[in-house]
Amino acid sequence: MKIGVLAVQGDFIEHIRTYRSIGVEAVEVRLPEHLDGVSGLTLPGGESTAMRRLIDRWGLRQPILDLAESGAPIFGTCAGMILLAREIAGGEEPVLPLLDVTVQRNAFGRQLDSFEGELAVPMLGDEPVHGVFIRAPVIDRVGEAVEVMAQLDDGRIVAVRERNIIATAFHPELAGETRFHRLVATMAAEHDDPGEGSGRRHHPVRRDRTPR
Ligand code: GLN
Repeated sequence: MKIGVLAVQGDFIEHIRTYRSIGVEAVEVRLPEHLDGVSGLTLPGGESTAMRRLIDRWGLRQPILDLAESGAPIFGTCAGMILLAREIAGGEEPVLPLLDVTVQRNAFGRQLDSFEGELAVPMLGDEPVHGVFIRAPVIDRVGEAVEVMAQLDDGRIVAVRERNIIATAFHPELAGETRFHRLVATMAAEHDDPGEGSGRRHHPVRRDRTPR
């Protein structure tokens, strides 16, 4: 089982290191063929406008949408979350509209460009998550199917899950936090082998992906 990490821009190395630190094989994805055989994909932090351009330049948009439709987990951090949003406040075109949320880019303004803080993420256990926020987005609206994983003290939503799509406004990969990556790896393994797992979710039928 291996997880792809979009490696066109941003902090993909940190994601690859995080997966490797928990014994999960992670591969760089720059071209559609690099998605062959991956069981999940991670979209790193960085600059969403640059990533948007490179995703289109390398023809990655449709193959990523196909992978998501197969039920494989897709995990976005920060800019990665922006790429996954169905709606971007201010009217920018969505890129991979897989997550029924509205995101606001650079939501914390200049004074609070970057900050860190402890966040409760009950889905990951009692131990709080150390959130590293760098010119981070927030989620302004969530659709009905979206589970809120974490909120700031003021109620703003900073981590969500909608079926096989997970997104955080912060950077677990820069904080030595491995639980999100473990969750993604578990979902990917289950996607590969739905088995007799109890309480498993509905997995859409896998479509054959033809090389393009
Ligand atoms: N501000 C960046 C953007 O809008 C995201 C920053 C990040 O990924 N740390 O794309």
